[in-house]
Amino acid sequence: MQIIRDVTLTMHTLSLSITVYNVITKHLSAHTPNEACGLLAGTAQHATQAYPIANVASTPRTHYQMEPQSQLTTMLAIEAQQQALVGIFHSHPAGPSQPSETDLQLATYPNAAYLIFSPLNNRWLARAFRLQTQQFVEIPLIITA
Ligand SMILES: [Zn+2]
Repeated sequence: MQIIRDVTLTMHTLSLSITVYNVITKHLSAHTPNEACGLLAGTAQHATQAYPIANVASTPRTHYQMEPQSQLTTMLAIEAQQQALVGIFHSHPAGPSQPSETDLQLATYPNAAYLIFSPLNNRWLARAFRLQTQQFVEIPLIITA
């Protein structure tokens, strides 16, 4: 698929702390070689909390489907804390580092960033994308101390 880098979108970024990054990648590593997934909550363009959610896809090595009850409970918890759903993450343990066509078809949250984690030199490479006119556009992902 085509990934467009749109200079008009430079205002859109997502930042997360190294602590949140570590929560995510620990979850992903624990489930490799299966894909793993979860939600990110925060305010505006800053994710302050990661919520790992079980992947119940029937083919988890190449797909993810969040366990529906956990997803709902998490969304309600995010709302109760007056935070926003700012990101949806999942891993591609065998690559690629960008969303798949299936990811695009299943993406439904235009206000959330879609984070893809894929292996690079025994670490996790994180990239963030945002839905725009039925395509994914990459946005800067900033990891803070
Ligand atoms: Zn995917």
